[in-house]
Amino acid sequence: MIARALLSVSDKTGLVEFAFALAERGVELLSTGGTAKALRDAGLKVVEVADHTGSPEILDGRVKTLHPKVHGGLLGRRDVPDHVAQMAAHGIANIDLVVVNLYPFEATVARGADWDETIENIDIGGPAMIRSAAKNHDHVTVVVEPADYKAVLDDLATHGGATTLTLRRRLAAKAYARTAAYDSAISGWFARQLDDTFPERLTLAGSRVATLRYGENPHQSAAFYATAEKRPGVATAQQLQGKGLSYNNLNDTDAAFELVAEFDPAEAAAVVIVKHANPCGVATAPTLIEAWKKALLCDPVSAFGGIVATNRPLDGETAEAIAQIFTEVIVAPEADGAARAVLAAKKNLRVLVTGGLPDAKSPGLIAKTLAGGLLVQTRDTVGADASRFEVKTARVPSPQETADMAFAIKVAKHVKSNTIVFARNGATVGIGAGQMSRVDSARIAFRKAQDAAKAAGLEEPLTKGSVAASDAFFPFADGLDVLVEAGATAVAQPGGSIRDGEVIAAADAAGLAMVFTGERHFRH
Ligand code: 5GP
Repeated sequence: MIARALLSVSDKTGLVEFAFALAERGVELLSTGGTAKALRDAGLKVVEVADHTGSPEILDGRVKTLHPKVHGGLLGRRDVPDHVAQMAAHGIANIDLVVVNLYPFEATVARGADWDETIENIDIGGPAMIRSAAKNHDHVTVVVEPADYKAVLDDLATHGGATTLTLRRRLAAKAYARTAAYDSAISGWFARQLDDTFPERLTLAGSRVATLRYGENPHQSAAFYATAEKRPGVATAQQLQGKGLSYNNLNDTDAAFELVAEFDPAEAAAVVIVKHANPCGVATAPTLIEAWKKALLCDPVSAFGGIVATNRPLDGETAEAIAQIFTEVIVAPEADGAARAVLAAKKNLRVLVTGGLPDAKSPGLIAKTLAGGLLVQTRDTVGADASRFEVKTARVPSPQETADMAFAIKVAKHVKSNTIVFARNGATVGIGAGQMSRVDSARIAFRKAQDAAKAAGLEEPLTKGSVAASDAFFPFADGLDVLVEAGATAVAQPGGSIRDGEVIAAADAAGLAMVFTGERHFRH
């Protein structure tokens, strides 16, 4: 039976209604300063914790509930006679329900508060009560967020004013997850203040956004978690229509959106089409519709069932064109009324709007699990800076070739290694991804361009007169030979092979321009 509850909450959503429901059941309400005031203002009878313990709130609220009458009331076992006797001896009354949500530390950090204010927003008594109550969940119910008020009331209604052990265990697990996430937000903030990217202990706390129907394959289970890092993207997007996103949808949509974010919408419209986490068409143009047409031309066969990302708000004309081929997901910073109307007719098409583009250069961590461990690295925030290209060949690239090489490098950064990207006039015209040898990636990129040319009824592949980018150096000249055969006129690569001399000589012999970027973009 719940006879006495302690309520101490920063987020007062749903508090009054919940407290009224408890009061109606005859539950005595204990509460701290601000919470007590809110309840009293609503007309409820409340006992201040300070009156209950006989100790006033002190030190600017740093010490409010840290008292044996609170923690004894939470931790004492009702089924152990010695506990019951000690509690009686010390005048400690049972507290059967604790409703606590913490000082908003995460929100305080998010709004850019200074050091002192951030420190002041570290809750001490709240987590202590949550942990005490959760430990003693055999007897005590703990609620850490308003979303669970209803479950508690439902249980009380169906179990004569008591909660079930099942619910108490579930709430206890949630309580420790909350205090763990809270402490991890605090330690993460400290690490950032101290410029300690890789602290000795790392907790990647997240909260579940959705459980997914299955994982990468139907026999794997999966869920999606949002971390504290707030970059506009898949985790924070609003879904306008369509079925829920699958594991693969989420993965591919993220890949598409991170790539399209490489292109500044103020400079050009950009469209990315992704399949299996690799782009199969990327283009920039003055308008989205032009960019879409150019992107689709790269590999129309692979684009079937793809994920499309745009860097500018989606307009009606572009939406109409995209909707003509089978597309799984469209993700855009926004979609105007015309675009929404066009897409609404395609019920199965999932449409996400993110409210903005992530900054491709913003820092952050990428993690990957391996047996018994977690590999963590900083994001690849290096862009393609044409002013730092080092020309290595007799022939110097034209301004158009240079611009296309910078474009191709940005794309290559988002393609699984080994990567060869052909580009021309701000559009990919051949992408070779994920091969175990660079020469195979080059061959595949060229062959795809030949196929696309055939499909479009062109005399020759668009690689003729294109530029190419390689995510890492050419270990041999054989990869370059394929680019020459495909008709590329300029090549960008990081350089750094012991055979750079041979590769440059091959480029010179074929009359190609070659630049070194100095930066590798492996993506495994
Ligand atoms: P109120 O608005 O009721 O004055 O304060 C509620 C907040 O105080 C809750 O977020 C709760 O977690 C927090 N809190 C309760 N007891 C203590 C304590 O002893 N020390 C600190 N620092 N915070 C507490």
